[in-house]
Amino acid sequence: MTIFNLCRLAQPVVVTILLFGCGARARPAERNLTILHINDLHARFLPDEQGRGGFAYVASAIRKEKETAGATLTLNGGDLVQGTPVSSIFRGLPCYEVANHLGFDVGVLGNHEFDYGWRRAREFVKAAHYPVIAANVVNDKGELLSGRAYAIHKAGGLRVAVIGALTETLPRLTREDARGPWKAAPVVEAVRRYASKLRTQSDLIVVLGHLGHEEDERILRQAPDVSVVVSGHDHAGQKEVREIDGRLAVKVRSYGVELGRLSLTVDTEKKRIVQYQWRRVPIDTTRRYPADRKVEALVHKWESKVAAVVDRPIGVAARRFDRRETKALLERAMAEVSGADVAYMNPGGVRDGLPQGQLLARHVWNVMPFDNLIVYERVKGKQIPKEAAAGRQLDPEREYVFATNDFIADQWKDSGPRFSQQGALVRDALIEWIKKRGTLE
Ligand SMILES: [Zn+2]
Repeated sequence: MTIFNLCRLAQPVVVTILLFGCGARARPAERNLTILHINDLHARFLPDEQGRGGFAYVASAIRKEKETAGATLTLNGGDLVQGTPVSSIFRGLPCYEVANHLGFDVGVLGNHEFDYGWRRAREFVKAAHYPVIAANVVNDKGELLSGRAYAIHKAGGLRVAVIGALTETLPRLTREDARGPWKAAPVVEAVRRYASKLRTQSDLIVVLGHLGHEEDERILRQAPDVSVVVSGHDHAGQKEVREIDGRLAVKVRSYGVELGRLSLTVDTEKKRIVQYQWRRVPIDTTRRYPADRKVEALVHKWESKVAAVVDRPIGVAARRFDRRETKALLERAMAEVSGADVAYMNPGGVRDGLPQGQLLARHVWNVMPFDNLIVYERVKGKQIPKEAAAGRQLDPEREYVFATNDFIADQWKDSGPRFSQQGALVRDALIEWIKKRGTLE
């Protein structure tokens, strides 16, 4: 992959490669830069059951890569918060406290930064010791929520303009009251506007996005001043660089299990990338790197505050349950506690599976970090939306008690059924349900 990409982009510079070897030394107008990037850490302070990720290892992975990378720019692609008890209980802020020690130069707002309300998102921006940017999160007056649309980072003789962008789908991903007066304006339009302004002040323009793949690609196609899109939001990341006319888009897997390393050679006269190489560096506790001590201490400080609440045994899982199976468990628990015939949990709200072995309340918090309540109502079969009815034989005229969570009820408020009954937290329903059973087969 690397050589193929390298040669294709570097056709005018084949001589360089022959003279100096693959990118070993740049021509006078050429500069080297390595972009280290990560996205969707989602408050996963601790390594997972398979020993992957963990903020202390993210910190040491970044530091270790920097040792061999030369000039670097280290980027965080958003959704730093929401996903574990520390984030839910302390409303995200500890994630920013710890992230200040991960070595980021610039970060972008993700949709989940709004989960605790837009005022909290603004506190995150203030708490970060690095610029947290977003060019398209604006109110009706055109003011920016984060106060900064872009940042200019100087490294290796390059002036790199980094423009922040958040997915236009924000209204579907957050509650209206959490967004307040803020909206995600059309991404490409905002990026193009700032890119044309920054062209003369920079040698390379990078978009730091929390965007869907389709939005990444639209920027590459429609904003030719932008050379690189470093993004987040899709938790599966990418296996290969997306390349359009020598412009690149990258993102990595969520939860800190890998770090992206994009090495670039930039022609500063043409303001174009002439060579690149992209690697995804696995982050795991099989100790390619030791944990960063400072970050480990901070993680411990916060985790110990929640341990009493969440590190209590609730049952045993005879096997691992993946996210799809865990969604079904949540639905069974929701139906049981609300006396519903049919329950629906949105797949996007199920943030993890359940591990095999001893189950702690913490595991359910990781599955369901959101403080969403069960809501339910008596409705006719035909009123149950098709995503909820999937796989079930429902009589359109029969009445059923139908349950979901209040986030989905809010999404459906204009088109779907209305819910007048409110029950327990979805998370608590599953915790109690597992306790009752003792063992999940
Ligand atoms: Zn995310």
